[in-house]
Amino acid sequence: MAAAPFAPTRPTAGRVVGGVALLALAAVLAHLATVVPGTPRTAVVVVGVASIVVTAVSLMVLHRGHNSAKYLAAGVLWGLGAVVAGLLPDLDLGPFPLSHVVFALGELGALAVLLQLLVRARAGSDDPPLVVDALMLGSALITLGWDAFARTGHSGTGGENAATLLVVVAASLVAGSAVALGVEQPRLRVSATGLTVNGVATAVVAVCLPHDVAIAGVAAALAMAGGIVGLLTLPRDGVVRHGGADAERAARRLEVASLIPGPVLLVDILLLVVFPRADPVLFATFITVLVTFTIRHAATARSIDRTTAHLKFLALHDALTGLGNRTLLERALTGPDHDQSLVLLELVGLDDVNDVLGVSAGDALIRAAAEEVLLVVGDLDGSAYRTGGDQIAVVLRGDPAHCLRHAESLIAAITTAPAKVAGAGRFPLTAVAGVAGRAPDGTDPDAVGDVMAPFVQADIALRDAKHLGGGAVSVYSGTVAVEHARRGLMRERLALAVAEGGVDVHYQPVVSFTTGRVDKFEALARWEDPVLGRISPVEFIAIAEESNLVVALGEHVLRHAVQWAYEAGVFSVGVGLAVNVSVVQLQSPGFADIVREILDQYRIAPHLLTLELTESVFLDEDSPAERVVTELAGLGCQIAIDDFGTGYSAFGYLGRLPVHVLKIDRSLTQSLTDDVNGQSVVTCVVDLANRLGLSVVVEGVETQQQADICRFISAPLGQGWLYSPAVPRELLGEQLAHVYPVPDALGLEDETRVPATEF
Ligand code: C2E
Ligand code: CA
Ligand code: CA
Repeated sequence: MAAAPFAPTRPTAGRVVGGVALLALAAVLAHLATVVPGTPRTAVVVVGVASIVVTAVSLMVLHRGHNSAKYLAAGVLWGLGAVVAGLLPDLDLGPFPLSHVVFALGELGALAVLLQLLVRARAGSDDPPLVVDALMLGSALITLGWDAFARTGHSGTGGENAATLLVVVAASLVAGSAVALGVEQPRLRVSATGLTVNGVATAVVAVCLPHDVAIAGVAAALAMAGGIVGLLTLPRDGVVRHGGADAERAARRLEVASLIPGPVLLVDILLLVVFPRADPVLFATFITVLVTFTIRHAATARSIDRTTAHLKFLALHDALTGLGNRTLLERALTGPDHDQSLVLLELVGLDDVNDVLGVSAGDALIRAAAEEVLLVVGDLDGSAYRTGGDQIAVVLRGDPAHCLRHAESLIAAITTAPAKVAGAGRFPLTAVAGVAGRAPDGTDPDAVGDVMAPFVQADIALRDAKHLGGGAVSVYSGTVAVEHARRGLMRERLALAVAEGGVDVHYQPVVSFTTGRVDKFEALARWEDPVLGRISPVEFIAIAEESNLVVALGEHVLRHAVQWAYEAGVFSVGVGLAVNVSVVQLQSPGFADIVREILDQYRIAPHLLTLELTESVFLDEDSPAERVVTELAGLGCQIAIDDFGTGYSAFGYLGRLPVHVLKIDRSLTQSLTDDVNGQSVVTCVVDLANRLGLSVVVEGVETQQQADICRFISAPLGQGWLYSPAVPRELLGEQLAHVYPVPDALGLEDETRVPATEF
């Protein structure tokens, strides 16, 4: 991935200093031209024009960037109007002296330019930063109106002043409200309203000060309050809202917006110098404008710095966790130090929290996990990045073999995260990790020309780890890559086998410890690929689950098994059938309908069909999968918990949900004869099941001793090689012989029966 281009366009310090120095020069020139007594008119004109030129140049220097020509034109028109007006003798034109008319023309020119900017800004206003432009233009408009008023109003009669005041107030109100109403963001709207109040109240002060100090005082307070509200609520982070891809554009827009008060302020300074004999009211209000704009400009400049810093941060960091993003990771992997490894961590168990507690709890959990990771990484002098929704990358010093240990510590740290999020404590969180090294320059052909090679390799290792299950760490190696390729091929071949019915079903009896009678048969999928050979279901079911293929595969096994059991007369002698169901199947729409359809088709007593599920299904309270389980139990099917004792062993769901059978995992059966604890665990589970009215199947019974213990602790049913492995239908006759009574339909000879007492 290429680094996101990010080039904030704020003028450099040198440019600002240069621009300001030029402006100061312009101000001095203008001052000299107008205040030195006896200066000839031609000199005033020449110096005035020179000051305009210098202003223009300084504006260009300061505003180099977007729309600089427009801003420049606005500044020049305005200043030109002002200087020419200052030079003209005041001819009596009634309420409109000539100099004011010329000045007003200059202001109108400036206004036209600024309005055009406003309209352009509005036209493409799907972009929130444009609102900032509009707001600033609106406030400039208000000040322009006010300036025009102050210059015509200060020498007029009370009636003229009042009339002009009305016009200015109305114009300010319209402009300000238009901006305020056109803004979606509440913060910007408040800001626009505050500035409107400020403009209107300032106009009132200008008119009332000589006549009515009390009203002027109230208006001044209002102006100040409005100004403060407007300034304080000026958009600081409003622009950053959308961040991300538009970050750079947003930063530029914000800068352009912030420059708009610039010309207004500068021209005001200029006017202040050009009209040194202005009356105290005008002078005071000029000062107000100057101060207001200085503050506003400073506030905006500060907000630009902050926003730019924020945007820069956003461009390189993940907003949720504050960890670096892929761009930063890329940089870390291109540093001069090659003795580095990349650990790619993927959180396992996050979905449960997202599903049950909601996405915000999931976010909090990711944040907590990131904090834990940072603690470990800080100790190891490494760095951490968020590279995907549930993926965190860590760069550490040292080779992969060395970092394997650290990966384990990172996973251990992540498992403590749920305790720190309200309500998430009951959801176990873990992670899997893939580790890959940054090969020394040039020695790894894969690494040449691709800085992200370690990322790709760590990702392959991560998938390998995922395959091994929660908590696993896998280090990238040639073997891992070969394994990765093999699994890719397997996925393809399996899809083909599922589509063409190449997946077979074998059956293993579940037997009563006391009577020796077959209680049911468990259907187990078998797949032998012409190219890859025989593959263990542990492997191909996992692959099928990753790629959703398990939905079709599971349905195939279910239909196949039920059809066999029906045709062999298994159901008619009261013997059941157990089928494994993946959680992915439960989550796929219409699974319960398929089961219902099959039950109807073969008219099976529903209790003869057992659906074996793993505990993971029951972790999410109220999850869709749980609702499907309830529906299946509602059909009358038996629900069995497979591999009981290996998973989360959170017993809560046993009371909550319709479960009928616990299948004690093979590993616990093994421990029956190996250690005393094992025996007591199995005894406890059997007791628990008895108390809850559940049946128990002890899996993986391989020895007579194990069977004896099972019988001793009153476990009702067992399954394992002691009785029979899973066999194809053709070889099932022998197992069926254990069914009492043997129905003729099965076509078995009486002599083949094995007495129950053998168990
Ligand atoms: P499972 O459901 O726990 O199936 C029991 C596994 O234990 C089977 O392995 C079986 O062959 C094996 N087994 C039975 N008796 C003994 C014994 O005495 N000793 C030992 N060591 N093993 C014994 P298998 O057939 O390799 O299946 C492995 C797993 O693959 C199954 O575990 C099940 O989780 C999954 N699986 C198999 N078929 C299907 C299927 O059609 N759908 C789904 N979703 N999963 C399936
Ligand atoms: Ca099973
Ligand atoms: Ca099992």
